[in-house]
Amino acid sequence: MWSYSFEVPILMILGIILLFYFSRPRLPIRRNRVFLQIVIAETLTIIIDVLATKACNEFDDYSLLWLDVINMLYFVAFFLRSYVFYRFSVSVLRITLGKKCLFSLLIKLPLIVGIAMAIHSMIFGDSGTKTYIYYVDAGGYHSGSMYYLVYSIGFFYVLMSFLCSYMFRNNLGRRREKYGIFSYNVLLLAGLIIRLCMPKYLIMDTLLFMAILVVFLAFINPEYFLDLRAVTFNVVALREHLEENKGNICLAPMGVVVRNYQEMRDIYGSAQIEEGLALIGKYLKQTFEKGIVFYCRNGRFAVLTSPKTDFESKRKVITERFERPWKSMNVELYLTVGYAAFDTEIGKHSTETFLNTMMRALEKAGSADGGELTCFGEDELVKTEKEKSIRQCIEAAIEKDGFELYLQPIVNAVTGKVIGAEALARIKDQDGKILPPGLFIPVAESSGRINALGEIVFDRTCKFISENGLEKMGIEWINVNLSPSQFIRTDLAERYASIAEKHGINPGSVHLEITEGAMIDDAFLQKQIGAMTEKGFKFVLDDYGTGYSNLSRLKKCPFINVKLDMSIVWDFCKEPDAILPNMIAAFKHMGFCITAEGIEDDGMVKAMKDIGCDLLQGYHYSKPIPAGEFAEKYSA
Ligand code: C2E
Ligand code: MG
Ligand code: MG
Repeated sequence: MWSYSFEVPILMILGIILLFYFSRPRLPIRRNRVFLQIVIAETLTIIIDVLATKACNEFDDYSLLWLDVINMLYFVAFFLRSYVFYRFSVSVLRITLGKKCLFSLLIKLPLIVGIAMAIHSMIFGDSGTKTYIYYVDAGGYHSGSMYYLVYSIGFFYVLMSFLCSYMFRNNLGRRREKYGIFSYNVLLLAGLIIRLCMPKYLIMDTLLFMAILVVFLAFINPEYFLDLRAVTFNVVALREHLEENKGNICLAPMGVVVRNYQEMRDIYGSAQIEEGLALIGKYLKQTFEKGIVFYCRNGRFAVLTSPKTDFESKRKVITERFERPWKSMNVELYLTVGYAAFDTEIGKHSTETFLNTMMRALEKAGSADGGELTCFGEDELVKTEKEKSIRQCIEAAIEKDGFELYLQPIVNAVTGKVIGAEALARIKDQDGKILPPGLFIPVAESSGRINALGEIVFDRTCKFISENGLEKMGIEWINVNLSPSQFIRTDLAERYASIAEKHGINPGSVHLEITEGAMIDDAFLQKQIGAMTEKGFKFVLDDYGTGYSNLSRLKKCPFINVKLDMSIVWDFCKEPDAILPNMIAAFKHMGFCITAEGIEDDGMVKAMKDIGCDLLQGYHYSKPIPAGEFAEKYSA
């Protein structure tokens, strides 16, 4: 006797999963479509299995035709179910094979053979010949000699799944997905083995149901793709959708971005702003009926829609809507928006490149003038690709000690003698050409690698000082740049002090240059500079004139030197006025020493000397040169 009592609760739980699944917004991607096929195949298999089992148990009460048909249907459903599970693995592993690809045809062959054999068994099966999966006669249902084929096909698809998971394992981003694909395939395998050993217990369906649960929890749960109280899809969904629709020219991406999001968040508070964003998300979904709306954090919405969409008229409508407040029970927000449009095909570049460019476009749109359209084209994508290759160069330089230390002399304005130097990093690209810091420093800053990079430059500078001796070169100190993100590390003082100690040099011989960007929080700034000065380090304010520092803030910081950015030096030399001389007078009154950067000729030397600059740095004296060359040139 076959037992099928536990099939009923399985069917009920499957129903609940489906109900939940359909009650949430779903992304139209392959894995979701295949998931539905799995659930349908599993439901059909269970129903047919119960009917077939009942008919086999009580075969006297049923016609032979029914017994034949229901068993044939069972085997067909069984094969289809094995196949769709395999297809699910292929979809989550992001394997794309053309429909006409020989491999895709071959992989379907066991399924086709299985179905053909089941139909063949139904029509011709009897006890006399040996080529049937099953046959029925007056004694009821009997397995045929080809019954093993059923399991072979099941095993074939599970093993193919394992094989693909191994070969394309790097396509699975999250650990949840890696464990997920392994677990559901193990459950499928166990189900087949148990069915093979104990055919009378229908435990296989329970194990398959567990496999579906794993699939749902690891890959399908709609919540993974939702944002803003489930109103819109999130960035994970956007990436997934772009990945799958790379070659689809029927998709036009565009962006609608809340301007000055951070400021708005400060003004309204996070709870209010999030409620407002949910309202905006809902509104955009209604406005772009045929599009898909994604929320990409920080007030940025991306919409994927048909290229036929008249974006200009949508833009007008949305701008008009934003003239009114966003209101709900406890919210009344006045916001403005910027727009981004993309004049390029999605499929030309990698998804990562496209997504990164898109995020940059959205960010730019958020700081553009209200209602303004920021257009992004091929150039921007090429820029993103370039950034990627710069990131690789930085990685390679960090790993293989590929940094070169360059030094630029700094001259005493009165004596004209070299008194110090600034350390500047250089790395080479794949072709061995030197990359200017203007290119790689911002990339290192945005990727966080500036910490490693900065520390290497500092280490190299200390080593250089200990090997060559400052005195021997006739200089008193070397300036090293410190990026804002390095400056905010709480362990900075310990790390830098231990490096200086390792090389046996006095921390005071290295002056740290920070820009105004690092001076975000007054209290923290003072604490950090305090901790560093306690260890003996000295600070220089770099690029003065490019930020928003006011004198009262500077007064609180024990800088030993303020470096005027070359842009204000050049402006003054072109068109002298009273502002810079007065500013310098104020700085000197506060006890700061002043350096002018970007000195390129005698006229500039004189102008800067006349207004009271103490130190001068620029191509007029020397361009930055390799540290070894510097030591040779200036050593007595
Ligand atoms: P910075 O700290 O303001 O460095 C001065 C920059 O001005 C250097 O550019 C230098 O070559 C350039 N310069 C000096 N004199 C003249 C001149 O007379 N004319 C012109 N046109 N340029 C002059 P560089 O080496 O390309 O570095 C650019 C920026 O990259 C630096 O500006 C600094 O902010 C950053 N940087 C360089 N190395 C490092 C580093 O190791 N760590 C960090 N955090 N930033 C670095
Ligand atoms: Mg500097
Ligand atoms: Mg500077």
